[in-house]
Amino acid sequence: MIEVRIHMKDGRLVVPEIPVIPYIEGDGTGPDIWHAAVRVFDEAVYSAYRGKRRVSWKEVLAGEKAFKLTGSWLPDDTLVNFKNCLVGIKGPLTTPVGEGMRSLNVALRQELDLYTCYRPVRYLKGVPSPVRHPENVNMHIFRENTEDIYAGIEFPFRQPETERLKEFLTGEMGIRKIRFPETSAYGIKPVSLEGSERLIRQAIRFAVGRKLPSVTLVHKGNIMKYTEGAFMKWGYALASREFAGKVFTWQDYKRTADTFGEPAAGDAMKKAVLDGRVIIKDVIADAFLQQIIIRPEEYSVIATLNLNGDYISDALAALVGGIGIAPGANINYETGHAIFEATHGTAPKYAGQDKVNPGSVILSGVLMFEYMGWNEAAGIISRAIEKTILEGRVTYDFHRLMENGSLLRTSEFADAIISNIQNP
Ligand code: NAP
Repeated sequence: MIEVRIHMKDGRLVVPEIPVIPYIEGDGTGPDIWHAAVRVFDEAVYSAYRGKRRVSWKEVLAGEKAFKLTGSWLPDDTLVNFKNCLVGIKGPLTTPVGEGMRSLNVALRQELDLYTCYRPVRYLKGVPSPVRHPENVNMHIFRENTEDIYAGIEFPFRQPETERLKEFLTGEMGIRKIRFPETSAYGIKPVSLEGSERLIRQAIRFAVGRKLPSVTLVHKGNIMKYTEGAFMKWGYALASREFAGKVFTWQDYKRTADTFGEPAAGDAMKKAVLDGRVIIKDVIADAFLQQIIIRPEEYSVIATLNLNGDYISDALAALVGGIGIAPGANINYETGHAIFEATHGTAPKYAGQDKVNPGSVILSGVLMFEYMGWNEAAGIISRAIEKTILEGRVTYDFHRLMENGSLLRTSEFADAIISNIQNP
């Protein structure tokens, strides 16, 4: 068997038996969690395929380690490897503090045009949670990853280019709404038709493919009409145009209600649900943040813009007690490029102590194996990690919230998962 790179053929991902997968260990606690995670991955792949498949891991550099060894925070070679191998995984990276320094995570997402940030949020039995019914949370967040205020187009306080922008806005454009134009810094929020459509299309495709009940477009269109409001409108239009017969939109409901009355619209919606159509609805972001606490069971797939998605992902992860173990993926479904990543930071105060929870990068590996179609390996890891937590064998972050848990180090937690893979 030879190592081959994952590649795309006729719009589909082709995964060889021994794919080369580049990984970034990460900074701070990154090496602790990576060394634990990779042992779990290899054991699960062996357990699923008995040597017929395995991963050829290839380390690539980014962050502090890269800077020390090469003088660059994000060497070109790293990008080339991610570009060529399509699928990769990474630990957390320090964002160097300093004016003008881009976040390495944002740079990777933009360079590879990884336009979907996918975060599944569901409750794992045994995880300590701050709410009474965390099991009612089962959502899939599709966050737009390349646009919005995160595009990084900002103009700092009292700089010549800021002055030029202000002159353009207040002079040529005649804008009078800036409260203190002389002392403002400015940020630009690009939200495009293409960018919104490609993200929303994947969210709906996901819901249709998995027979999930709904897709909710979360936005602040009541305030930002031409950006976030447009995201919602474009979303409804795309749903009706590209998924006709497979979805029932809130707009369909309103049209039916206007013509035939509310009871008829209610009946049409009930019929759509019975027919297995995906309901497409929308909600304002602030109301959504209340509703996920009060009645999370009403939401399934979420499609949202970049900044909303950032807040929503962490708020939802907290509801299931999963902030330390929430997995994430950054994907471009057309090119196949995908980077799976721990969603927490580098937790530098614990670096090298073999202490923190490796769950986030391990569960990101589960997403990666699912993406590659290695569902058996993914399932084996999910079941083993769930069993380990249910047995109360956990790292310090869960242990301090449990009454009768056993405290494990990072490496011991990996050992416990591996023993549950071997003895399911
Ligand atoms: P952080 O590293 O996530 O740490 C904040 C707190 O979260 C930690 O002190 C710890 O809580 C808890 N935590 C984080 N990872 C954990 C783990 N694996 N297991 C258990 N608990 C964990 O956030 P930060 O201190 O704001 O950021 C530190 C650096 O990480 C910054 O340079 C930031 O830019 C970077 N960062 C990178 C990424 C990324 O690469 N994806 C994401 C976010 C931040 P306790 O103190 O309560 O134990």
